[in-house]
Order: sequence, then C-alpha cells, then structure tokens
Amino acid sequence: MHVSVVLFTADLRLYDHPPLRAALETADAVVPLFVRDRAIEAAGFAAPNRRAFLDDCLADLDASLRERGGRLVVRSGDLAEEVCRVVTEADADEVHMSAGYSGFAARREERLRSALEPAGRRLFVHDAVTAAVPPGTVTPAASDHFAVFTPYYRRWAQVPLRPAAGAPRRVPVPGEVGGERLPAHGGTGGTSPALPPGGESRARAQVAAYWRRGLEAYDSLRDDLAADATSRLSAHLHFGTLSPVELVHRARRHGGAGAEAFVRQLAWRDFDRQLLAARPESAHRDYRTRHDRWRTERTAAGDIDAWREGRTGYPVVDAAMRQLRAEGWMHNRARLLTACFLTKTLYVDWRIGAAHFLHWLVDGDLADNQLNWQWMAGTGTDTRPNRVLNPVTQGRKYDPEGVYVRRWLPELAEVEGPLAHEPWRLPGRERAALDYPDPIVTLAEGLDRFRRARGRQP
Ligand code: FAD
Repeated sequence: MHVSVVLFTADLRLYDHPPLRAALETADAVVPLFVRDRAIEAAGFAAPNRRAFLDDCLADLDASLRERGGRLVVRSGDLAEEVCRVVTEADADEVHMSAGYSGFAARREERLRSALEPAGRRLFVHDAVTAAVPPGTVTPAASDHFAVFTPYYRRWAQVPLRPAAGAPRRVPVPGEVGGERLPAHGGTGGTSPALPPGGESRARAQVAAYWRRGLEAYDSLRDDLAADATSRLSAHLHFGTLSPVELVHRARRHGGAGAEAFVRQLAWRDFDRQLLAARPESAHRDYRTRHDRWRTERTAAGDIDAWREGRTGYPVVDAAMRQLRAEGWMHNRARLLTACFLTKTLYVDWRIGAAHFLHWLVDGDLADNQLNWQWMAGTGTDTRPNRVLNPVTQGRKYDPEGVYVRRWLPELAEVEGPLAHEPWRLPGRERAALDYPDPIVTLAEGLDRFRRARGRQP
C-alpha cells in the first residue's frame, strides 16, 4: 500500500488544499497530520487567543475528515522528529505540505527535507496554498521583491491563478497511526472574552454571509469604524481555514467595486509575504532604517502601559486598544491610528507595539503585523515615512458621531456626538465628572519630539 503524509500547517482546511489533493491522487491512504511545534511555543507565538482559535480549527478539521472516512492525527514536539516518526509508523514514502514564507518556515522546510531525504522519503512543498500569488511570482526588473504596492498590484492582478478545487469526498487514513486527543475550545485561559470561534465550517459560513450582506458595501464602508463593515476573515486567512486563491476567484466572480476593493486587500496580504520572504529579518529589524533612537520600556514605561491599557486620553486610540483585548481583533483603520500614535506621537519602538498586537490578535501574523507596523513607523515601505495621523481629526472623520468610541469606552457613554473625540472640550463640571484621563501628551509635543528625532525641524 502506498501511503503519504499530509502535514497541515497554516492551511487548516479541506477545500482547495493542493497538498491533500496531490497526496490523494497518488497514494492509497494518507495521514493528515498536525504537529504542535515546540519551536512555535518556545518563540512565544502560541498566544492564548490564537491557541484557542487553533484548537477550534483542529477540531473542525478532524470532524470534516471523519465525515470522509478519515481523522486528524495530532502530535506535539519537534516538528521534523514527529513527522519522521509518523512517516515510519505509517511506512509512508512521501510528505506533502504548503509553502510558508517566513524565515522560520524556510528553516522548518530545510530541516524537514534533510531529515526525510536520507531515509529515502520525499518532501513535496506546494505553493499558492497560503498566498494567492506566492512570493517570487512577480518581481521588478532590478530586485527580488517589490517595495512599492501600486506597481506590485498591477502585476499581481495579471497573474493567472490556478483554479480552486473543492473538498475531497473520501480521505482514507491507515488505522495504525495514533495521535493526541483534541482539546476542547477555550481551555487555555487568558483569552479575550469576545474571541470568535475558529474552524473551516465557520469560515465558509462567514464568507457566504459576507458575500450576501457585506461585500457590496465594502469599498464605501471599510474605513467606517462604527459600521464594522469589513469581512473579519483575517484569522481564517491566517490559519488557512480559507483559501486566498478561492476567495479571489469568488470575489472576482461576484464583481463590483466592493469585490474589487476586497481583492486589492488580499493583494496587500501577498505583498507582505513577498517582502518577508525576500527580507526575513524585517520581522525584527527596520526594513529601511531611519536611525531612530526609540523610546523603550526603560524610558517610556508609563506611556507604553497607558497605550496598552487604553488610557492615553485620546478616545479613538483607547477605544481601539480596548477592542483589541476584548475581541482579539481590531479594525484596520484603528490599527493604523494606534500604531501611529505609539510610534510617532509617543515615539516608542515599533517592536514593542508589534509584540503587544501579536499577543492579542487572533489573526496575529508575522508578515502582516510586522510589516504593517513598519509601514506606520516609517521604517517600512511607506513612501511618506514621516506622515503622522492626528487621532482627533481621524476619529472625527472615521467615526463622525463618536459611536465607535462610546461602544468601547463606557466612561464616555454620556458624551454626545463628535465631542466624544475631544472630551477635554466639555464644560468644566461635565469634564470633571468623567472618569477618563487627560491626554498623556499633547499632539504638538508629540509631533515636535518626532520631528526632532527624525532630524527635521517643526
Ligand atoms: P478586510 O478589510 O475584510 O480585508 C480582507 C482581508 O485582506 C483581510 O482579512 C486580510 O487578510 C487582508 N488585508 C486587509 N488589509 C490588509 C493590510 N493592510 N495588510 C495586509 N493584509 C490585509 N492583518 C493580519 O491578518 N494579521 C496581523 O497581524 C495584522 N497586523 C496589523 C498591524 C497593523 C499595525 C496594521 C495597520 C494592520 C495589520 N493587519 C494585520 C492588516 C489589517 O488590519 C487586517 O488584515 C484587517 O484589519 C483584518 O480585518 P478584516 O479581515 O475584516 O479585513
């Protein structure tokens, strides 16, 4: 009997899964395997929100495999060792997996290959599973990656995508390979109270609902903080319970300005991946240094705590930081504002903010998080690295009635309309009655410090 192992990583689905399809085409049976990688735990990347979401994804994948005559095998430990162990137990001759695009993923693939090949087993790594257009597919004439989004997007949009496939009808799994019991949802503690559930079944239901009710208005409402009109599919894309290739096809078939704008955001996701693949060190180091001498935990502990806890005295920043803790998710416009506030108004190292986001975000993703942080800090690919977003004018623009702010800041529940963005303008007694802090820094002071630091006079 010819057996293949399918190693699931950031692709926890059965629909449109090229490694699984390839394995089923040639093997009599497959072992669908997920390894809780000790190295990811050791790196602190398995934060409680993502761990709980992952548990849902694994349970859902197992249930879907059981409906098809199979099951999921879950192991824990060193990834290469565990895969080799399962290969031996199942007497498999091939391993199929999806390509990943971080430095970690590259090293993991290398280790796995050098563990398998001396034993005569082959590793097949499939592209275009976790990205729609994988890194390296389009490159500019003089570089290995694009550093500017617009020309990247022009080329990206012309790449013919492979067709999306359905889920297999049957997945025969050999009986002799055992695994761990799957944990129940939410057993880990420290999670956000309103954390969304994970899993491919939910992801597909969410897409269907969004396609019916949200996609058309995506373009006009995507920056409206109170409307909350974006897809909230990011965690599903991060864990691969949805295929980006399939999503692009479906959005293009749907058509219209909303679908077009949505596809463009998926291209941003691929843009981040091609950047991280080409410059893996940009997960931790400035992509383009501006020679910053950032404030850090040692020099700005009070400001950093106020930012993390949502008590900076700037309502839109505080509302967003509270949303992050409550839901493990934050609106994109709010991510931009809070990242700008930390790096430019408080002049704090972007890595401190990125780490806090990675702790809470259920969609926390090395490529998207670190490179968006760098974008906002002006050390990344933004062509206007010194732009500073004013949280008051941005708040009034993207939350004109203060609805988003009041949703997350009960202290301001009684402040009506746009004044919720500037509670300090309330008459003295009303202001004094609010249990809400004064701004920890004036915007003028922040701007002045930032401009001096970047070598430009105000
Ligand atoms: P939608 O607006 O519905 O967009 C659809 C999909 O497109 C998203 O699910 C996402 O996969 C992709 N996308 C949208 N905007 C971006 C973008 N700016 N960059 C890359 N991909 C995008 N996204 C993450 O998935 N993980 C992160 O860790 C992450 N960290 C971020 C940190 C900062 C400082 C900033 C400014 C942005 C970050 N983003 C991150 C990008 C973006 O904010 C989220 O993808 C988006 O808010 C998720 O909500 P949604 O699914 O409703 O997005």
